[in-house]
Amino acid sequence: RETVLTVEDLRTHFATDDGQVRAVDGVSLSIPRGKTVCVVGESGCGKSVTARSILGLVDPPGRVVDGHIWFRVAPGAEPVDLAALDSRSERLRRIRGNDIAMVFQEPMASLSPMYTVGQHFVEAVRLHLDLSKDEARDLGISLLRRVGIPNAEHRMEAYPWQLSGGMCQRVMIAIALACGPALLIADEPTTALDVTTQARILDLLAELQEETGMAMMFITHDLGVVAEIADEVVVMYLGTMVEQGPVDEIFHDPKHPYTRALLESIPTMGSGRRSRLPSIRGQVPHPLNRPPGCPFHTRCDSAVRGVCDVEDPPTVTFGRDRRARCVLYDTAAFAGQVRRTPTT
Ligand code: SF4
Ligand code: MG
Repeated sequence: RETVLTVEDLRTHFATDDGQVRAVDGVSLSIPRGKTVCVVGESGCGKSVTARSILGLVDPPGRVVDGHIWFRVAPGAEPVDLAALDSRSERLRRIRGNDIAMVFQEPMASLSPMYTVGQHFVEAVRLHLDLSKDEARDLGISLLRRVGIPNAEHRMEAYPWQLSGGMCQRVMIAIALACGPALLIADEPTTALDVTTQARILDLLAELQEETGMAMMFITHDLGVVAEIADEVVVMYLGTMVEQGPVDEIFHDPKHPYTRALLESIPTMGSGRRSRLPSIRGQVPHPLNRPPGCPFHTRCDSAVRGVCDVEDPPTVTFGRDRRARCVLYDTAAFAGQVRRTPTT
């Protein structure tokens, strides 16, 4: 299938007084039309910064310092490198909201308490589509119905604070979908919601994706959500990608020790209960003090001393579309141990 988004070796760094924070440091992924890639990892791993980088929404002192973000606006179109566009450019502003839509964790925070749902709609839609106020309103009503909001006409007059969190998130999704985006980026969109509402929203997104063929990048720390919605999974740790592959393979045969640790702590997979990412032995190191070698070596039960704490682990490919960044699978690295010893 044609890819909608291809991120190549993305690096987003923050220059702080205390040093350089490599918030995203070499992320590559691609999302075909109609498919969902889940980006998963503990908080601070760089998932949200990855999303914001794609959208050109990284605030200073952060900056995309390297990489490509190839985005295909429409099927068959030539990909555009978003990383090469100025984040304030008209072109990128048009793509954002028009061709790439976004939904964030706190719907309340994205809606103004001063405006009704209808006013939000008219505002958002008219920015991007050439519609009259009435047409924008009608589109709003039909989309509210589409996302399962009862009494849509009546809800157009409601203020956000008169709606539940789940209802607000539906409103946000309706607004996001108004322009028929090729890509939806959702950053923990269901984290603040109760389990039942979460499940409904996930079903809704899957349904809408089926209908429209939009690609989705879904950021979450919740492996239950991943199991439900992902086609592909990208596991991140300290700004780097440690493993990626098709969801079934990741769940049934995780290669990377970090992925394994994450999965081992889900006691009730498949029973409908969700569990959050557990705390794994030790602490995530501070991003300013990223350990040398493998970033996970300070917490890894399989770490090989003298190797993992010294050398960047190689990216090893399994089959056609799986990768893990760990020395354990690199036989050459162990053989290399011998070669690396000085011979003269
Ligand atoms: Fe563990 Fe070493 Fe693999 Fe890193 S490279 S995950 S420390 S075994
Ligand atoms: Mg986040």
